[in-house]
Amino acid sequence: MGRPFVVTLEGKIYSCKYCGTHLALSDDIASRAFQSRNGRAYLFRKVANVTVGESEERKMLTGIHIVADIFCVQCGSNVGWKYETAHEESQKYKEGKSVLERFKILGPDGSLYWASPEAHIGELMSRVLGFF
Ligand SMILES: [Zn+2]
Repeated sequence: MGRPFVVTLEGKIYSCKYCGTHLALSDDIASRAFQSRNGRAYLFRKVANVTVGESEERKMLTGIHIVADIFCVQCGSNVGWKYETAHEESQKYKEGKSVLERFKILGPDGSLYWASPEAHIGELMSRVLGFF
């Protein structure tokens, strides 16, 4: 594998908390009101420096969506997911947009949110065990 090509963003940047790679801009936030099972998450109109995993159908609180996990291109950490298709008409606005989990990214001022304690322990365990 070659060295990944990493784009540098300018502005108020959200970056990977593990390696600092730029992932998205504050200006591209479509919603801050998202929730993942690990806590708060933001919906971005676009993200940079991610690789997209395999699409799968996922049943969420808001209905069935086709989503794909997204990973930091530099360190391979799972940072959120991308909506490819939403079945419900009211959820169509999410298509093509990406969710970054807030506790996996650093804010523009370097702020870091912690997930719920259980999720944090789960994440630490998975890191200890070598999974991401
Ligand atoms: Zn990273």
